[in-house]
Amino acid sequence: MKMNIAEIARAVDAQNDIEQWSEIEVSGVAFDSRKLKNGDLFVPLQGARDGHEFVATAFQNGASATLWAADRSYEDDGYPRIVVDDPLAALQQLGKYYLHKINPLVVAVSGSNGKTTTKDMIASILSTQMNVTKTYANFNNAIGVPVTLLNMESNTEAVVVEMGMSHFGELDELSKLVTPDIAVLTMIGEAHIEFFGSRDRIADAKMEITHGLREDGTFVYNGDEPLLRERAKDLKQGQKTFGRQLDNDIYATSVEQSDHDLRFKVNLWPDEEFTIPMIGEYNVNNAMAAMMVGHLLHVTPSHLKIGLANVELTENRAEWLTGQQGEKILSDVYNSNPTAVKEVLETLNELPETGRRLIVLGDMLELGDASAKLHAGLATEIDHQHFQKVFLVGNEMTALKDQLLADGYPAADLKHYASDDQDQLIDDLQKTIQADDIVLLKGSHGIHLENVLNALKAK
Ligand code: ATP
Ligand code: MG
Repeated sequence: MKMNIAEIARAVDAQNDIEQWSEIEVSGVAFDSRKLKNGDLFVPLQGARDGHEFVATAFQNGASATLWAADRSYEDDGYPRIVVDDPLAALQQLGKYYLHKINPLVVAVSGSNGKTTTKDMIASILSTQMNVTKTYANFNNAIGVPVTLLNMESNTEAVVVEMGMSHFGELDELSKLVTPDIAVLTMIGEAHIEFFGSRDRIADAKMEITHGLREDGTFVYNGDEPLLRERAKDLKQGQKTFGRQLDNDIYATSVEQSDHDLRFKVNLWPDEEFTIPMIGEYNVNNAMAAMMVGHLLHVTPSHLKIGLANVELTENRAEWLTGQQGEKILSDVYNSNPTAVKEVLETLNELPETGRRLIVLGDMLELGDASAKLHAGLATEIDHQHFQKVFLVGNEMTALKDQLLADGYPAADLKHYASDDQDQLIDDLQKTIQADDIVLLKGSHGIHLENVLNALKAK
């Protein structure tokens, strides 16, 4: 971005006289004084500590100005301050102002899983035809969204904004902030069910992404989810669905998976074959969502193909690695939930490799009252014929262990560890693993299976 202090002060309704600094140029925003770049506007936010404490550091690191809360006193130290009621609200107001000034197409993406992946795919597809800005990393909340907007270069023609939420009202606010031309919901899962109590209520909260949708905008959603179909009926805007079912506007007609990519055909262009450089069949759904967005914006099939083939993932969380015995390790240790585990087990089942399949599953966190039931529910996906050894980590996994044993899974091939007993787990794995095994590591980040990964992977 490029704005001078006078323009920023007008956009955020500054309460002080900024006349003496009006011509100073600001080239970005930062709320972490250590990561601030020369020329940035510093935004003091309330975190574990009050951001106002770091204003001096911000100026030492090159800040050109800072926002400042009106209820804080300050001495006249010469630092250019823009005084506002609430710096976070001012950041959002400034993001909105800048969005209107640049006026790009806006695509908003939410859903329980697949937001970042879909965001990356949409950005890659749209980049074949226009200048695109996308959410940096996982910056998907009330701070990350305005920061994404303010990071737009002035020639941005489309911005793809990831939006996360864990409570009612969050998507309402974010959607109204960006007023999307296209709003995408990838799927409804069980993430944050602890706070919501039911999938119905999660669906209600996710639908808030349509609250700011422009009148001539389009809602693109997973049509395999009845909760969304039901709710979409009440919308006046255009709608398109994607999914696996044949009653969706876009769906894959055939999917082939190797150990490093997915190839598929699509109903809308039956003669074309598309490839994405990632595994996990759920990514086909993410691709369907992204292709529908591209299609709505008139991207041709050949450009859809180029966009998908070259997608740059923010964080390629699921990755194949080689272990010390030569075994193949599928590592997905930063995120876990029931849908994602089921998907990855299916993926493993469909691989052509003939080796044993060993699975290491860590707790799926934040599932609240439903936790035991959801953990136990994974047992239907795990049988001894397909998964020859099971290693479970964490308290919540007790429910899965009990269920597997009740279902007749052999106790000798089932082990359970406390989450702080990973040394024993690593030891057991090292004694068990053979060269042609396939090993899955999956768990919520809080369980830290990356320790196991680091011990197993080839140096
Ligand atoms: P976060 O809430 O952490 O921002 P996200 O919604 O951005 O997550 P991604 O980072 O794209 O999601 O993917 C995280 C994990 O979710 C993947 O590694 C995979 O296990 C699972 N996943 C991704 N897409 C889907 C999907 N369409 N359906 C089910 N599971 C999915
Ligand atoms: Mg994300």
